[in-house]
Amino acid sequence: MTLVSSPLRQDFSIFTKDGCRIDLHSHTQYSDGSLSPQALINRAVNFQLDVLAITDHDTVAALAIAHDYIKAQNIPLTLINGIEFSTLWQGFEIHIVGLNIDLNSLSLQALINQQQARREQRAVTLGAKLAKCGFAEVYPEAKALAQQGSITRAHFAKALLQRGVVTQMQKAFDKYIGKGKRAYVKPDWCDIETAVATIHQAGGVAIIAHPLRYDLSGKWLRRLIVHFKEVGGNALEVVLPQMAPQQRDLMLNYCLEYNLHASMGSDFHYPSRWSDLGRNLAMPEKAIPVWQLWH
Ligand code: AMP
Ligand code: MN
Ligand code: MN
Ligand code: MN
Repeated sequence: MTLVSSPLRQDFSIFTKDGCRIDLHSHTQYSDGSLSPQALINRAVNFQLDVLAITDHDTVAALAIAHDYIKAQNIPLTLINGIEFSTLWQGFEIHIVGLNIDLNSLSLQALINQQQARREQRAVTLGAKLAKCGFAEVYPEAKALAQQGSITRAHFAKALLQRGVVTQMQKAFDKYIGKGKRAYVKPDWCDIETAVATIHQAGGVAIIAHPLRYDLSGKWLRRLIVHFKEVGGNALEVVLPQMAPQQRDLMLNYCLEYNLHASMGSDFHYPSRWSDLGRNLAMPEKAIPVWQLWH
């Protein structure tokens, strides 16, 4: 039996605490993060966070474990149930984060199952394409790295790194598995509307993750935001650690113009020199924080 608390029964008064430290975007080894749920929770406590959302790619597997650990160890951390869905819009892979979702939602579980099947299928095709590039049997290695979690391109990048095919994971994307490269597989992720509707059915709020990481021109970014708003989307990620102040202001202005709430998170995958849990995150004064939607 799991001890998962329903999102509606959580106490969110913590958000009004002076100097409350919040990070609403992070990954565990149930997708392409390097830490176990327990190690991620410990790291959040060491970094003095009050609130953490776990938002793995197309899975919620880490959350029950993290909730149980917090309860068993009586850890003073508010854990928000989250997910990061991969969607396809106009040929772009757009990530939609869902926060404060009910893990028992049947529609949520159904979409997760579909996305997992798509991930598996894409991984097999990606393995075949890499074989044509001269690298046989990468799929089993990537699958072993993913263990029981979502299989992602980051696992293929790591497998290629371990073989010495590339010197950094990023180079695997630049040379082989990134969009438009030799081994790229066009995925058939769900559309944005489906992700937003499913997140809403699970009682959560839907957020465009890292809006500036899709290589969209200004015109296309605006189109994306208009479409997201039309299908009922709630918020934009306005604050990420590596974002310049003018980029943050640009996102904030989109929020104000389209009546969207604002989220913030580190998109933590593994400890690194440049970004870490909860670091350099502060909600701009003019923004309406996404957590006001679930108060
Ligand atoms: P997937 O969702 O399976 O397509 O895997 C994409 C993941 O790989 C992202 O969530 C990132 O964590 C990681 N990644 C690292 N570099 C890149 C890149 N250049 N393009 C896309 N994803 C990248
Ligand atoms: Mn990732
Ligand atoms: Mn993402
Ligand atoms: Mn992410």
